[in-house]
Amino acid sequence: MRSHRLHSLRRQDVGKTVELNGWANKVRNLGKMVFVDLRDRWGITQVVLDPATIPIASQLRAEWVIAISGEVIARPTNMVRKDIATGEIEVSATTCQVISEAAELPFPIADGSKIEPSDTTRFTYRYLDLRRAKLKENIIARSTLTRLFRQEFENHDFLDIETPMLYKSTPEGAQEFIVPSRVQAGNFYALPQSPQVFKQLLMIAGFDRYYQIVKTFRDEDLRADRQPEFTQIDCEMSFVDQEQVLETIEAIVQKVLQQYLPDYQPTPFMRLTYDDAMQHYGSDKPDLRYDLRLHRLDAKDFVDGIPDALVAEEAGELVVIAARSCAEKYSRKRLDALQSLFMQAGGKRLAWCKVLADEWKTSIRGGISAATQAVLRTKLALQTGDMLFIGLGASPVLLTAMGTVRQHLAVELELTDPSQFKWAWITDFPLFERNDAGELASMHHPFTMPREQDLPLLGVQPLEAKAQAHDLVLNGVEVAGGSIRIHRPDVQAQVFTALGLSQQEIDSKFGFLLQALRYGTPPHGGIAFGFDRLVMLLTGNSSIREVIAFPKTYKGTCLMTSSPSPLAQELLAPYHIKSLVKPP
Ligand code: ASP
Repeated sequence: MRSHRLHSLRRQDVGKTVELNGWANKVRNLGKMVFVDLRDRWGITQVVLDPATIPIASQLRAEWVIAISGEVIARPTNMVRKDIATGEIEVSATTCQVISEAAELPFPIADGSKIEPSDTTRFTYRYLDLRRAKLKENIIARSTLTRLFRQEFENHDFLDIETPMLYKSTPEGAQEFIVPSRVQAGNFYALPQSPQVFKQLLMIAGFDRYYQIVKTFRDEDLRADRQPEFTQIDCEMSFVDQEQVLETIEAIVQKVLQQYLPDYQPTPFMRLTYDDAMQHYGSDKPDLRYDLRLHRLDAKDFVDGIPDALVAEEAGELVVIAARSCAEKYSRKRLDALQSLFMQAGGKRLAWCKVLADEWKTSIRGGISAATQAVLRTKLALQTGDMLFIGLGASPVLLTAMGTVRQHLAVELELTDPSQFKWAWITDFPLFERNDAGELASMHHPFTMPREQDLPLLGVQPLEAKAQAHDLVLNGVEVAGGSIRIHRPDVQAQVFTALGLSQQEIDSKFGFLLQALRYGTPPHGGIAFGFDRLVMLLTGNSSIREVIAFPKTYKGTCLMTSSPSPLAQELLAPYHIKSLVKPP
């Protein structure tokens, strides 16, 4: 049994007899002496063993689990180790017991190794990967953030209430995971993409404030910030308007940040409408750590008419970004790369100008006249050395394509400092958008309340209606989204109808909700955080897989446990299903 954890011994412990347990992080065998950095969750303590009295010492290898007893001795002041908190001391072992040997390691665990394992190796041996300092810190940070959020939600009178994992298939937007029912032949549960409907029912039930840190599931193509199962901090409040939801959530987040980030200076989150975000940043989740705003150019900005090269296309809108002091950084190759990025994003053509002291350099045939240069200099506050990127195309794609260029420029110009946190609320989203099939779809979800004044638009010009929806954006990533909900059954039915659901579909899929709304429903609204993304950003990581203990690969597989895996037909039969794919 250990007497101390491995981060705790200091100079004042010198002379004590201690029992320590842990993993051999590093073993340095100097022949007459063996030095072991012994590691546990909390830290590292250096142990010195003499093979003359402890013969096993010379056989110790990295990652063996050992128990030692010994005496704490001081290290000379000029030899204090700076790399560990216990660097003032070491423990001179009197006994060493090997508790468990480690097989040959697929990659080194101790810090300082130049060998970086491939993702495949990391995920196959995730339990070893998790021993590495960086990953361990991420998981501990996640636990801390979980605790802080819980505390703050509890402090604001939110009740932690669980909702079912076995739910039913509903058209909420994402592709679902389906679970066949054994008992109810031919019927299926779906795993929830969010506890949305249940949290609304909890408001109807009168709980007033609910929160839950909960796994949710979406069977979508994966990216660096997506996983098939992910964690939400989900919450809902009654008798509130949108402003009260935003204020409460902002207060909770600010409090958590103050406790989590030692130097955090709370400043109110920025507020932007969806339209402004799109116009100025070309994105509904703008990264506000840098400016690089989008500006529109029109005929009056071009004293001698818009150059032919910019009007040749049928799509005649122009949007410009002025990037500061980077003219010399942009070679032909880089400019071509930007151009193709812009075109892939749906833009028509991306022209550029280098603002030079004498003649501007530009990709626009015929150049830009001195008079127009003067207008642009004033309009965009240009300085010599700046660079203009002029995108040609048609809104709204032109805006999003320029938004992509904006983001790309920020990375190239190193404007994305990960230690800076810029938060923004985005509001006034459209209620509906057209999906890829050209059908009307909810931009947030079908339970979102339109703005009061837009209710008459539902049946006639639904695309014009704005929603009482809100997203919280951090450094260009959407970390939370929510809305005020529809609490009137007639409005809810109207929205379902606008979405093209037949009466029969409405009844079978959401009849229970419409029914519940008829029994006295308070106005209510809430939000859900993508907790994995939030932890990723707050820990300075660029993939959520770094902050999830056991994530899936981009293909949705777990390399460690080999899931998903085929099932033999006799195992499928009780569920009344037959696989179309033969097991190997
Ligand atoms: N259920 C929503 C989502 O998962 C969030 C919310 O509206 O509260 O996106």
